[in-house]
Amino acid sequence: MTTTTLAADHDPMGAAILDHTKGICQGPLTVHSSMFDDDEMPIDHLFRSLSEMPRLEQEALSRARGRVLDIGAGAGCHTLALQERGLEVKAIDISPLSCEAMRLRGVSDVECTNLFSPLLEGTYDTILLLMNGTGLAGKVSGMPRLLDRLKQLLTPGGQILIDSSDLRYLFDDDDLPSKADGEPYYGEVDYQMTYAGVEGAPFDWLYLDYPLLEAICQANGLKCECIMRGDHYDYLAKVSL
Ligand code: SAH
Repeated sequence: MTTTTLAADHDPMGAAILDHTKGICQGPLTVHSSMFDDDEMPIDHLFRSLSEMPRLEQEALSRARGRVLDIGAGAGCHTLALQERGLEVKAIDISPLSCEAMRLRGVSDVECTNLFSPLLEGTYDTILLLMNGTGLAGKVSGMPRLLDRLKQLLTPGGQILIDSSDLRYLFDDDDLPSKADGEPYYGEVDYQMTYAGVEGAPFDWLYLDYPLLEAICQANGLKCECIMRGDHYDYLAKVSL
């Protein structure tokens, strides 16, 4: 796992976000994976307003308080909703193009940085990781490192609000890959994106079921609470010290 930011010529999602912000979108953002058929990510979804957000995200935003850090902020939809409510919120993203788009959209505190960069300092009362926040761990084995990093960025009474989904619905019950059989965890997905001729590097993205998130948090000295279940195997969790 690196600590650097993305190169603009290998950042399809950032290119799509910036083009959409400028009103010059050039076609679909295509998501490839060895596990699924190619899929198109609707770029509009990254620009959702508060009323267009899933219930889980609305709930997360309603719980935000104090100084907020929005990690992997994308087009800044959550940051903007909180900023409009008068909260002090900082958006970070690994994509320089997404960060430029956020600035154009009026996000006042944007830093283009990798969450794991030692240059990112400070502590926050609320840390948001939304739209499958566990993805940033890459694989189950990356969860302790993610949680350790989040601990460094959290005030003593602070909260981490993170969402994910249990991908078991993709498998028949008797086909669910099992750890006992030495198979990788079924929520470990590989993705690669393309947009308007821009090809991104492949990356790992973790979907984590709630019981496993809770167990990993506990093993790493953190409390974990399921705040809300969504309509489709998704959930919002609150992690704290
Ligand atoms: N939270 C946004 C975007 C989710 S997509 C939303 O809900 O709409 C995930 C985002 O995380 C992308 O913009 C990606 O560039 C960013 N990202 C991925 N790895 C990161 C890292 N290590 N540090 C900071 N941002 C990261």
